[in-house]
Amino acid sequence: MNRPTLLTLWTRAMRLRCPRCGEGRMFANWFKMHPACDHCQFRYERAPGFFLGSAYINYGLTGMLVTITYMILHFGFQVENPDLAIPLGTFAVLFPLFYFRYARALWLAMDCFIDVNVLRDE
Ligand SMILES: [Zn+2]
Repeated sequence: MNRPTLLTLWTRAMRLRCPRCGEGRMFANWFKMHPACDHCQFRYERAPGFFLGSAYINYGLTGMLVTITYMILHFGFQVENPDLAIPLGTFAVLFPLFYFRYARALWLAMDCFIDVNVLRDE
């Protein structure tokens, strides 16, 4: 099996598809993940607690977006802190819920890119 490129893995993650074949869907619905690819049987959860690391991606991106938005609006457009607190707080709560699936898909794609043995047939 040819090893997918980083761009291929990233594209598959953004489409929420299996990192190995690019065909199978990773999620049954917003929060429920399939245990394995229905096309190539690639097991998504590599070990118990594997997807805990995806929280770092989700948290990191959320924090970065809130920080950049705050800096631009507060220092660039002089928006006062009380006017920013509720919108940015709401964003900080809702965005991770939206990005949950993508963070997991990216975490798995990153593991597949770094560890050459992950994508081999089991
Ligand atoms: Zn697959």
